[in-house]
Amino acid sequence: MKTAREIIETYDGPHVRIMEVCGTHTHEIFRLGIRKLLPEQVELISGPGCPVCVTPVSFIDEAIYLALEKGVTVCTFGDLVRVPGTKMSLAGAREQGAKIRIVYSPADAEKYAREHPEEQVTFLSVGFETTTPAGCLSVKSAKEDGLSNYSILTANKTMPQAYEALKGSADVFLYPGHVNAITGTHLCEALAEEGVSGVVAGFTAKELMTALAVALVKFQEGKPFFVNCYPRVVTQEGSREAQVLVDEMMEACDSEWRGLGMIPASGMKLRQEWQEFDARIKYQVPIIEGKPNPACRCGDVLQGKCKPSDCKVFGKVCTPQHPVGACMVSGEGACSAYYQYS
Ligand code: SF4
Repeated sequence: MKTAREIIETYDGPHVRIMEVCGTHTHEIFRLGIRKLLPEQVELISGPGCPVCVTPVSFIDEAIYLALEKGVTVCTFGDLVRVPGTKMSLAGAREQGAKIRIVYSPADAEKYAREHPEEQVTFLSVGFETTTPAGCLSVKSAKEDGLSNYSILTANKTMPQAYEALKGSADVFLYPGHVNAITGTHLCEALAEEGVSGVVAGFTAKELMTALAVALVKFQEGKPFFVNCYPRVVTQEGSREAQVLVDEMMEACDSEWRGLGMIPASGMKLRQEWQEFDARIKYQVPIIEGKPNPACRCGDVLQGKCKPSDCKVFGKVCTPQHPVGACMVSGEGACSAYYQYS
């Protein structure tokens, strides 16, 4: 019997485009040297699974509005600080006097609000099904703690609608294992019935090689397929606890994705009974139309329409030190992976 590595290295089937939906997969596949094993006809393309990358420019502009116009202390994961907004990044706003604090979790932001009752504090809640429950928990804690100075600015997104929007951009999806750990695999099974093939992959070298080998073997059979190659973590039903928590506190809303545009019902916002913690409502944030740098092709990169190296400013004007777009800033971004490893 062939090993996963042998299956990958000796693949001589038809050309296949495999989309790494998850930014961590993109980085790990580069870092582990797996790309070097792939024959020419196996093409890996990046997808929309880096939460910072898909967060639109308008969200950065809203956060800057809160910080500069409303004097709110903005708590955020570090990656978002250097993502360019229309006029400046949060780092730029900090230079103009805005209070921008880097935190490692929404719980840290809630704790900061509790310890600083004299400040209004907003957490920038971005990410997919994996991170949304933690944002909800922070709001729940704030309610229990009786805080009136804590809120979240939501840009939380859900993957199912993105898969729908990306149908046809790849032959096989490499599904993000950590998202499926929460959502389960029902959706992937349903997509396979609609003709969309994919495998759920873990994050170690062995798990990634196995997932790719399974994808190549199944692809040659010529029929749509779904295989869970990360069964030690991903179950069919996912995390019921997380699903119930999010459902209790949040509801679906239309959401803008960088590159993919507005996707109906692909976002999450707090339900009406939790709206006192919704920064957009609390501070009456106006609708802001963000404008990305026209030279940046993040939108195309996130849809697998081009590789980062196809962007004219890649590695020249746009580098991790001086990022022009979100995909070069984020530790999960495809442009930063290409810059670091290729
Ligand atoms: Fe955007 Fe920079 Fe990537 Fe080009 S290289 S797509 S400018 S992030």
